[in-house]
Amino acid sequence: MSPLAAALLPRRTYAAQLASLHGDIYRQIGIKPLINAAGTYTTLTGSLLVPQAREAMVEAAKYFVPFIELQKTVGARIAKILDVPAAAISSGGTGSILLATAACITGKDRDKIRRLPDTAGMKNEVIMVKQHRNGFDHASRTAGGKIIDVETVGELKNAINSKTAMLSWVNIKEPLGKITAREFLDAGKAAGIPVFNDAAAELPPAENLSLLVKQGYDLVGFSGGKALRGPQASGLLLGRAELIEAAHLNNNPHSDTIARACKVGKEEIMGLLAAVEVYAKRDHAADMKLWHSFMQSIARDVNKVSGVKAEVYIPPYPGAHPVPYLRVRWDEAAISLKYAECARRLREGEPSVEVNADDDEITLASYLLNPGEERIVGWRLAEVLQSARRG
Ligand SMILES: *Cc1c(COP(=O)(O)O)cnc(C)c1O
Repeated sequence: MSPLAAALLPRRTYAAQLASLHGDIYRQIGIKPLINAAGTYTTLTGSLLVPQAREAMVEAAKYFVPFIELQKTVGARIAKILDVPAAAISSGGTGSILLATAACITGKDRDKIRRLPDTAGMKNEVIMVKQHRNGFDHASRTAGGKIIDVETVGELKNAINSKTAMLSWVNIKEPLGKITAREFLDAGKAAGIPVFNDAAAELPPAENLSLLVKQGYDLVGFSGGKALRGPQASGLLLGRAELIEAAHLNNNPHSDTIARACKVGKEEIMGLLAAVEVYAKRDHAADMKLWHSFMQSIARDVNKVSGVKAEVYIPPYPGAHPVPYLRVRWDEAAISLKYAECARRLREGEPSVEVNADDDEITLASYLLNPGEERIVGWRLAEVLQSARRG
């Protein structure tokens, strides 16, 4: 349906049409597809493939190829597109943490590679800022890394010793700690220890794909299945040629390696390549404009309900995604509905809509909505709020 034709339909009819058209493959097995106004959460399956990645995966699935050569060739092509020295394909942002840690611990030593996660006699300490610790650092421990927490620059310098394999930074967590990115990077450089940056969700800004490596991080990890809109089970490890070579040796399809258990197939590898090609050429300003219009459309719908205040905002970077969001608050004297309860009603409605609920607001993300879905979200949210009005 053309956007114009869609705009002329009553919201309810249009929403029902969209809902009935979408997600049939899942409905057949009793899974209800959802509209994602929450964000790139793995529990909601991350993001949706760009069409070019989807097509590349179907095409890639038809042929056999030499796998080791495919890994290296696609890595080199991606490195060229992003203007960084080298790249490897991992099984997601988390896979890039695992590969980075393994590469820093073993280098290109085949015996050490075979022994992971047993690191007896090897450098195995991974230094992290305490406030950056998160569930994904499990991947460093999976590779045999022993995580050492530090809070200040003094503690960081003291912690570096002959057993230090890697310094591990989480880009989005910078505002939470007492050590700046510059200080962390400088400490690594001064000691000659590789510094990894987990930038899994750090797009936009698109420049980050090249910038972080150019700033001097030895290794940088990105998720393939978030803003890049490549396959969910793919990620990028970018950085220095020596270390990427070590990562390749620890990676699938090499057997008897730590990352052999994190296989990324030829379909994902070719899908990720297509997604990177698309992202590098994308009109990011046009995306931002479109996302802004989605949020404004929803704001218009819900601001019609009296007692409700919806405003579009862009959270500051780093620390959050610098893309348009909508913050919705209401006067509980006028509308008797807790924020979490509102999110639950949206989730359980038809079509199901996912948003973020806090104690004092709900927030909606713009960047995963398909055109048209903003109208469904606005209609559903207004309906839920209207029905909870007192009196
Ligand atoms: C999402 C995320 C990851 C994990 O990425 P996957 O591609 O889902 O494995 C790791 N670190 C951070 C900071 C993330 O936001």
